[in-house]
Amino acid sequence: MRMNLLRLMVVAAAAIASSLFLAAPANAQDAPAAAPEAAAADDPWNGQIFLTFDDGPGGSYTDEILDVLAANDAKATFFMIGQNAQRDPARVRAVLEAGHTLGNHTWDHPDMTTLTRAQMDAQISRSQTLLESFGAEVNCFRPPYGAHNTTVNQAITAAGLQRQLWNEDTRDWSKPGVDAIVDVLLGATPGDVVLMHDGGGDRSQTVEALEIALPQLAAKGYTFGITPKCSSTA
Ligand SMILES: [Zn+2]
Repeated sequence: MRMNLLRLMVVAAAAIASSLFLAAPANAQDAPAAAPEAAAADDPWNGQIFLTFDDGPGGSYTDEILDVLAANDAKATFFMIGQNAQRDPARVRAVLEAGHTLGNHTWDHPDMTTLTRAQMDAQISRSQTLLESFGAEVNCFRPPYGAHNTTVNQAITAAGLQRQLWNEDTRDWSKPGVDAIVDVLLGATPGDVVLMHDGGGDRSQTVEALEIALPQLAAKGYTFGITPKCSSTA
């Protein structure tokens, strides 16, 4: 009862301070003081952070990322480019056999907003067919660059997929340095969808940052799972 009263007071204070931030300050006040069990009970994500890797398979970087994920008991979603998957079927199978989930990231990574609806449909369906040929259940689609509009959204929905963007961007594609990637990773909290890349170039910074950050996040009690939109519906 005392906690409820405190919470009411916090909310009331926040409301006076700014109605824009009614919910956020209350949560920010609660989180650091709460016991781990209490925090988990309030967390609809059950402590999960959602790691995602785009543009693969990405050669040996994919192998190294699979290794660091396994070492931290982490599951992740890999948004593969169809033509890359076609070129490297062994790594597609390795990702699936490790218990990770695939997402559709088009056939060859166009900006979907520049395409006709028919071209959008082809980008999605060609990649979907290829990924499903590995026995994968693919429930989600991520548009390259996050670029989308009403027509793109309609094409995604028509394909029976859910659009999965992200809310934490490591900007690892720009090779900002290991520390910069680690900083973004360590800022993640349950429910966050974190954007990284295993394909498209030299991803050694991404690998090194994961090796540093994942054990620290795990030490906070966080786990690493598949996004709800991409998870198996079986
Ligand atoms: Zn991409």
